[in-house]
Amino acid sequence: MVRIGLDVGGTGIQIGVVDQDGRILEKGSVVTRIDLPFSEQVAQMAACAQDTLRRSGHTLEEVESIGAGVPGIADENGVVIFCTNLSWFNVPFRTEFQKYIDKPVYIGNDATVAGLAESVAGVSAGTSSSVFLTLGTGVGGGIVIGGKVWSGAHGVGSEVGHMTLELDGVPCTCGNRGCLERYCSATAIIRMAKEQLQVHPDSKIMADCGGDQSKINARMVFDAAKEGDPVGEKVFRRYVNYLAQAINSIICFLDPEVIVLGGGVSKAGSFLLDAVRAALPRYIFYKQMPYARIELATLGSDAGIIGAAMLQQ
Ligand SMILES: [Zn+2]
Repeated sequence: MVRIGLDVGGTGIQIGVVDQDGRILEKGSVVTRIDLPFSEQVAQMAACAQDTLRRSGHTLEEVESIGAGVPGIADENGVVIFCTNLSWFNVPFRTEFQKYIDKPVYIGNDATVAGLAESVAGVSAGTSSSVFLTLGTGVGGGIVIGGKVWSGAHGVGSEVGHMTLELDGVPCTCGNRGCLERYCSATAIIRMAKEQLQVHPDSKIMADCGGDQSKINARMVFDAAKEGDPVGEKVFRRYVNYLAQAINSIICFLDPEVIVLGGGVSKAGSFLLDAVRAALPRYIFYKQMPYARIELATLGSDAGIIGAAMLQQ
């Protein structure tokens, strides 16, 4: 038996046929066309899924289920309630997709799905509990306990990006202030760098962006930190401390076996991982007890397809 996973993103939809162990057998993709009506978008995805399945050498009879990871939220009836990137609001994804492929269709949040993928075929495989953090433009979270996704009683659990990290802090896109993702995302790194450049315009970062601060990205700031640039170092240290505090909150609350760092910022690799591991102990409450291992995600961009395919009821 095989499963089909759809990684639904704002620019493209990656589709894969995945075996029971989480290995991708064949891939396909379609461009996200938010200009098309919802029903036509789904028709294109289903056509690509059928084509990818055919290329994998498997038949529809062998498909156990279909899963979709979306940057948003769905209810138990397979209705996507909220998916801003695709302008999907209250769209019946499951029913629409089943018009083309009549199999069980499951929908999960993209960060949750990536966490599930890591717990099946990645760095947290075989663990009793894990929390996955996507450190990207925003911050997403995924909780897997006993091999199953925990999305909360109302489907909105693991939204760690909008836990408050600083009272009356930086305004967030959600309407609150001081949300964790305002301090632990790539966006936060860029903001903190720009703030520092006001006072230290002689920084290497200013030269690297050619004086155009709109060109600053998180990698540029971390690279400057690696090379000993004072602004880069300051922002990096601050970022690591925010992240370590956020991780401590997750440990205090859930005490998972592993916390996995994924998303664009995690591409900084051991430079980030070593710093976070070093910063964490000072915040840990039960210092004499073992606590969550901090690891980097290993599946990269395939996590979306694998995790979506692994979704179950
Ligand atoms: Zn927020």
